[in-house]
Parts: sequence; structure tokens; C-alpha cells
Amino acid sequence: MSAILEIGGVKATELANQFKTPLYVYDQNQIEDTLTTFVENFKSEAFPTKIIYASKAFQAVQMVNLVADYGLGIDVVSGGELFTTLKSKMPREGIYFHGNNKSREELDLAFKSWVSHIICDNIMELNVIDELSHQYQQKMNIMLRLNVGIEAHTHEYIITSHIDSKFGFAFESEECSQCLALLTDHPYLTFEGVHCHIGSQIFDLTAWYAAIDKLVSALKTFEQPLVLNIGGGFGIKYTDDDQPIELAESLRLLIRYVETALLEQDVTITALMIEPGRSIVGGAGSTLYTVGYQKQTPEKLYYFVDGGMSDNLRPSLYQAKYACDLANKLDAPKTEKVTVAGKCCESGDILITECLLPPAEEGDLLVTYTTGAYGHSMSNQYNKNLIPAVVFVKDGVAREVIRRQTLEDLLRYEMLD
Ligand SMILES: *Cc1c(COP(=O)(O)O)cnc(C)c1O
Repeated sequence: MSAILEIGGVKATELANQFKTPLYVYDQNQIEDTLTTFVENFKSEAFPTKIIYASKAFQAVQMVNLVADYGLGIDVVSGGELFTTLKSKMPREGIYFHGNNKSREELDLAFKSWVSHIICDNIMELNVIDELSHQYQQKMNIMLRLNVGIEAHTHEYIITSHIDSKFGFAFESEECSQCLALLTDHPYLTFEGVHCHIGSQIFDLTAWYAAIDKLVSALKTFEQPLVLNIGGGFGIKYTDDDQPIELAESLRLLIRYVETALLEQDVTITALMIEPGRSIVGGAGSTLYTVGYQKQTPEKLYYFVDGGMSDNLRPSLYQAKYACDLANKLDAPKTEKVTVAGKCCESGDILITECLLPPAEEGDLLVTYTTGAYGHSMSNQYNKNLIPAVVFVKDGVAREVIRRQTLEDLLRYEMLD
């Protein structure tokens, strides 16, 4: 008997039998432990704190319910994410609406459903929000997305002289002045604070510190205390090459930095907000595949699996790296140098370029770890592959939170005659 991977107390082989592969599996206790780490370490005596889950990392009604249970709010970036959130038990006041090109229809849905926080990206959007607030005669809190000219990249950061990102605007810009002018003494719109999001997979906090300095200086120009929202981007470990700072430590360091910056610049805030996505769900998720055929080329041994870029786009989109195992042969010696490839009709459909695995047989289970963020949420129907089920496992019990697509689902939107 070989050692078999267990997730949340259930054997991977049982999960595969019950729910089929490919399969997204989340260890619910691990998500909850991470949520607890956030809640316990992101707090200050000097100001209130708010943790907002950036739900584009992984969104499902049950997931939103879980983060609501821990008192977090939620970021949504589209009408679709907003609609899903409205079906959950997340309180309306916990919803923050982001995006650089929210349509009138999406903004209308926000007003209709009593969302009360919008992170505004540009003046044209603010004009639409202004119109809608008069039409609905309804209040809305507006945060401005600032481009601080800092881009974080894992271990380093770039201070960009031209701020050409599609997101936000510089505090010093004409566009920002126009936004602030529109918000001044507005009957419905309240200027709530400033926001920035400097990148993802941040391993070195100095970029964040630089961004905080910029935002705090911006806040100093206002008489009233406002919200300081410093975005998301906490790095996680995908492979042994990644060495992020421990999460609790990062949170405490950020809090301490903000406390000091506020004291030094003599600024008061109404709240400090962060928007973690990846770090909440990434590590807790794995994907199970069934190994099909193998192919030996002059240079490579391929293991083909029953999914690929349709359920995990990140390797083909930006060469993301993952670790893997044969889930039903955990203790077998890893003697083969392997390329793990998907079944999609693209040469770039490679999940793992090179890894060591035991010799495999058709029907073995292959697990890729750390697929919980931007896995399911970036899944697509290329080749009409079925989007896999999502299962939460907790204390030996597996429950499906999103069912696997069926062939019939593929035809749901087609006009058949
Ligand atoms: C994507 C995003 C986040 C979350 O980033 P992670 O790297 O997943 O933590 C937070 N805020 C904004 C505005 C984002 O676009």
C-alpha cells in the first residue's frame, strides 16, 4: 500500500472517486486558520482596521459566507462578482466595488442593491456615479484609487517616473483635483479615503512602506480624517524558490509602519484597510488530476493530465511555477524527470515544465499544490473542457461548493435551431 495524500482528513483517491477529476480541493481549516491570522494580527490601538477579501482570487457564495463569518469585508470587481456576493450573507456595508471600467449597468446594480463603497478609478466613472447618486437620491462612499508610481515585484520594486498604469491616477494630477472638486460638498457622495494596490506576490515590504508614505502625505492635505487603504498582494510560497515573510509578521510590520508614519506626519485616519486575495486562499487549494498517457520524446518525458490551461491558466499566462506529487504514491521514490502537460490544443499548455515524480501509471492521481488563488477564477472553456467542481474539505467531511459542469451546461447558451 502506497501512502495517499489526505486533504482535510479525506483521502485524495476518495475525493477523485466521488467528484471526478480535475477537481479543485480546499482545506477549509487552512482557509480559516489564515483568516484567524489576519484578524488577530492586523489590529492597532491607534486606529480601527478592516480586512477586505479580494474575491477575484476565488469567489463562490460559500467562500464569501466563510469570510463574512470571520468579519471580513469583500472586494468585487464586476457585476458578476457583485451579483454572487449579493447571494451570500455578506452584509451590504462590507462590499467594496473596484474596477477601472465599471459599466453604467454595473454601477446601477451597486446603487440598486445598496452597496455603499465604491473605489473610483477615474473622473469619467465619478461623473457616472454622480449622476446615479442624484437619480437614486442615495448616498455613496467614494474612495479614490491613487497611482503612487510604485510597482512591487516579489523582491524588488520599481519607482516609475511615468505613471502609465491603467489603474488610478496620481494624487498630483489634474484628474485627481477634478474628482476632489466634484466630491466637495456633494449632497450624496462622501469622500471616504485613498487607495492603492501596488502589485502581487510581494515578498519585501519596502515597496509597501514607500506607498504608505505617499498615501499618508496625500492624507495630510485634508482636514478631516479619512480611510487609508493599502491594497493586497501578500506573497505566498508556490515552490521552494519562494521565501515569503511569515504572514503574521508581515501584518504586524505593516501596522507598526503605518502607526509610525501617521505619528511622524501628524495624520489621523478613520481606518486602515488591506485587501488580501491570494494569501487567503492560495495555499489552501490543490488541484487533483488523473494521469492519462505518457510520452517520451528525445529530451522529455511527458505525463499528460486530464486538465491544463483551462483549469489553471497561470503557467501559460505568466510562467507561474507549481509543486506537485503523485497523490496516490506519496512515498514512491521520485526517479523520473517529468514535464506535466495538459490536454488542451496549445503547445503552451504545460502545467509544470520540469519536476521529479515517481514512475506513473495510467489512472494515477497527480496533485498540484497552491492552486487556490486565480485557479478556478481564471478557468475557461477552451476546447469545451468542463469546468471542474470545487470541494471544501473540513475535519474529514467533503462538501461540494461548486458542482462540476456537465456536457449539457455547455449548450445552455446556444440557440439550437
Ligand atoms: C487583485 C487585487 C487585490 C488582491 O491581490 P492579491 O495579490 O491576490 O492579494 C487587492 N486589491 C486590488 C485592487 C486588486 O486588484
